[in-house]
Amino acid sequence: MPTLVLKPGREKALLRRHPWVFSGAVARVRGNPGPGGTVTVVDAQGRFLAQAAYSPASQIRARVWTFRQDEVVGPAWLRARLARAIARREAVLPPGDTGRRLVFAEADGLPGLIVDQYGDTVVVQFLSAGVEFWRAAILDALADLLPARHFYERSDAEARRLEGLPPRTGPLLDTPPPPSHVGFHENGLLLEADPRQGHKTGFYLDQRPNRALVRRWAQGRRVLDVFAYTGGFSVNALAGGAAQVLALDASAAALAQARRHVALNALPAERFATQQGDAFQALRAMHHAGRTFDLIVLDPPKFAFRKEQVPRAARGYKDINRLAFLLLEPGGFLFTFSCSGVLPRDLFQKIVADAALDAGREARILADLGPGPDHPIPLAYPEARYLKGLWVQVA
Ligand code: SAH
Repeated sequence: MPTLVLKPGREKALLRRHPWVFSGAVARVRGNPGPGGTVTVVDAQGRFLAQAAYSPASQIRARVWTFRQDEVVGPAWLRARLARAIARREAVLPPGDTGRRLVFAEADGLPGLIVDQYGDTVVVQFLSAGVEFWRAAILDALADLLPARHFYERSDAEARRLEGLPPRTGPLLDTPPPPSHVGFHENGLLLEADPRQGHKTGFYLDQRPNRALVRRWAQGRRVLDVFAYTGGFSVNALAGGAAQVLALDASAAALAQARRHVALNALPAERFATQQGDAFQALRAMHHAGRTFDLIVLDPPKFAFRKEQVPRAARGYKDINRLAFLLLEPGGFLFTFSCSGVLPRDLFQKIVADAALDAGREARILADLGPGPDHPIPLAYPEARYLKGLWVQVA
């Protein structure tokens, strides 16, 4: 098997079970591995460290399949990993929830592979050279393990470009393309994802527990759902007895789906309103108009993709959080999030603290928030925790 020999001392991350080998850690490549081919990774003394998928185009030159020498990476091995990932979800999610992430890449020992289920539709992302190499075997296994009517590919995420792979979308396994409204359940609500045109694989499954939290604390409150997308937080707030909910987003299509979600669940449409526009401008205008709310959700898109973008992203986060603090009534709740993986959690908390200071508000953290249990965080791979949030109460 082709071999990656690491530079002296560069084996430390692998010894801690972190699954990435950076290009700068590689002393030399023996043999002639192709993109996605399996390589043995050894330390400078030639001692075995891991078996990994080679990715010549990426800064992450190899992603670990296994730290064991006696396993054979191939169709049967992949099928077992997939089956285990799926079984873990059965153990940790409410049985009625039919929208769930079944495979979360590195977090499930399948680097670069995302498998999301929405009811009878399975959406797959092949985002690394390794899973691309094994795509036929992975699809065979998924067809076998999951009784779905539609399998659809959404390999159009940025991560794939960094692996030197062209975007690819479309039906898989000879199944018909899914409809644009695929129904699924979450926390007892009927929701819809659009696997073909929607964001990511169609919906933001990672916010499941936080939507449930908002539902639990929305009773009687006037709610502002900023960056609402298709209104996942909004419908939960209405279901939790909110007095009013205003969903704000730049996308008219997303807001139309939010209204559809309200209707589908027979929630009180007279308490729901949508506003299309830029959140920064809209929040400023609301502040100048003297509007206030009792609960605000801030769930912006990723502001930073790379480390160099963190300072600029920090200014964006601070601005919207400052405006949210200005709009909250005394005793009001702010549920504020960042899904920028490169922005550390403590920095996010500092940004929110600065925002409160600038707004002249005193506030306390009631809970630290993160993704749900279908987005598990390996102890050795904290990068999986890209989503972070705070539940804050203003004085
Ligand atoms: N809270 C949503 C997910 C939000 S995703 C949920 O639970 O499903 C981020 C959303 O921000 C997207 O819907 C996108 O359309 C919107 N968006 C991006 N930039 C924006 C801006 N400047 N102003 C308003 N909305 C914006």
